[in-house]
Amino acid sequence: MQDLEFTIQDGHLWLLQTRGGKRTGAAMVKIAMDMIHEGVINEKQAIMRVEPNKLDELLHPVFDLDALKASSHIAKGLPASPGAATGRIVFFADEAEEWAAKDEKVILVRIETSPEDLAGMNVAEGILTARGGMTSHAAVVARGMGKCCVSGAGSILINYKKRTMTIDKKVYNEGDWLSLNGSTGEVYSGKISTIDPELSGDFGKLMTLCEKHTKLAVRTNADTPHDSTVARSFGAQGIGLCRTEHMFFEGERIKAIREMILSEDVEGREVALAKILPYQREDFEGIFEAMNGLPVTIRLLDPPLHEFVPHEPENQKEMANEMGISVEEVKIKVDSLAEFNPMLGHRGCRLGITYPEITEMQTRAIIEAALNCKAKGIETKPEIMVPLIGTKEEYLMQESIIRDTAQKVFEEKNDSVEFLVGTMIEIPRAALTADEIAEYAEFFSFGTNDLTQMTFGYSRDDAGKFLPVYLEKGILADDPFQKLDQTGVGQLVEMGTKRGRSVRPDLKVGICGEHGGEPSSVKFCHKVGMNYVSCSPYRIPIARLAAAQAAIEE
Ligand code: PEP
Ligand code: MG
Repeated sequence: MQDLEFTIQDGHLWLLQTRGGKRTGAAMVKIAMDMIHEGVINEKQAIMRVEPNKLDELLHPVFDLDALKASSHIAKGLPASPGAATGRIVFFADEAEEWAAKDEKVILVRIETSPEDLAGMNVAEGILTARGGMTSHAAVVARGMGKCCVSGAGSILINYKKRTMTIDKKVYNEGDWLSLNGSTGEVYSGKISTIDPELSGDFGKLMTLCEKHTKLAVRTNADTPHDSTVARSFGAQGIGLCRTEHMFFEGERIKAIREMILSEDVEGREVALAKILPYQREDFEGIFEAMNGLPVTIRLLDPPLHEFVPHEPENQKEMANEMGISVEEVKIKVDSLAEFNPMLGHRGCRLGITYPEITEMQTRAIIEAALNCKAKGIETKPEIMVPLIGTKEEYLMQESIIRDTAQKVFEEKNDSVEFLVGTMIEIPRAALTADEIAEYAEFFSFGTNDLTQMTFGYSRDDAGKFLPVYLEKGILADDPFQKLDQTGVGQLVEMGTKRGRSVRPDLKVGICGEHGGEPSSVKFCHKVGMNYVSCSPYRIPIARLAAAQAAIEE
């Protein structure tokens, strides 16, 4: 599409200049589809003319451009989750819930978010954090929710006590209006009206065309029946990553989790885990139901346990009362869970190896849920995934617990279901020894968030301090947590896939890091021969289009 400037003077037509035309995402799709119907271009050309990232405009609210002109830009962070949002500043997740209950639109502003903030994030219009990169908690969770988020806006100083945020010496208070553009990372003061997206018939037709020309399947990262249903409506062909820990924060569950963490011995942990089992089983049943007939990859518990315990004195007091122990005991346990490098600490399969009863409970919940679904006529395809392995021995130890537990459940219920057991490949050593691991693992899913972290040696949580400078100074062309670094991390992905398939030619390989929804990374995954990419629900259309383009470009 060209933008032409012309004039007519004394009966002559003068072309003054021409350049690539700017158009909205909706116009881009409509033009491509109209041109097919008019016989000007073919289907493949139409797919190639649509820019994947611009589809975001069709899926998320955008600012009213007139209102935006009158607004003032105050800061910039990372474009962590697309869309536009406007609301009043609130600094605490529980207060975000209270304000939202009174129909107030809020923007949750935090130094960084943690799983404890989930409910507040859910009701906020948008989320702004001063710290954290593209795979920080705020970024990943917001993308899953399809909610606007700007992360790592380093120029913002937050004072929780005074309930203020300061940018360039100007102070913003709780209740002040703030607007975010999650697609660009821009932060504006004041209220800027937004326009809701509207999906046209052309969008649906474009997606059908993509389906026809693609080889790579697109799955979703989803942890709830609701997210699974949204993803399916966007064309997800299964779940590539269900992070089980996100289910642990609702209502009564967190109490049982905390009880498990505080237990001193196996017996105590088993009592607490027995309380969690029904919740997990119910969660999995809901997800299997939403995904009826499609594969669902469920990852065993991954984050460090300190993320689940209360850190604020009043919450520690509440926990002590609930558990009938002293605040001091709670505090000692919470302090004992602190680690210097939690991302490299007691997490992933290391949890299931030190506490096998956690793996047993989660496997039981998955298998019992699948059997319950079978009884209701729902077809399930569970894939149980071990996180963060670096050696085949770690995998084997977890696999044997999974298979033994499943067998036990089958015998108890006198029925069975088929399931796969596989692993994340997210530690460089796992990629390097993929042939040893694939002798046992039935599938691989590349966790490129951790793989990027460990290959570059950049902490996912702290890279916000120096990555912007690296980008500005040209040391890096792109944020590697956003766009897969094909030169370095990509080698490990390609090598891991090849080595894995050298011993198991039918090894199912996918990606579930945040790169699974980024167009250039999706194309790379196609090139290395993956079976699928998995991304948050609202990025599925982008991934489907990029996957079709990759197949056409071949
Ligand atoms: C990853 O590391 O890429 C991944 C998907 O797991 P998480 O982001 O939960 O660590
Ligand atoms: Mg990971």
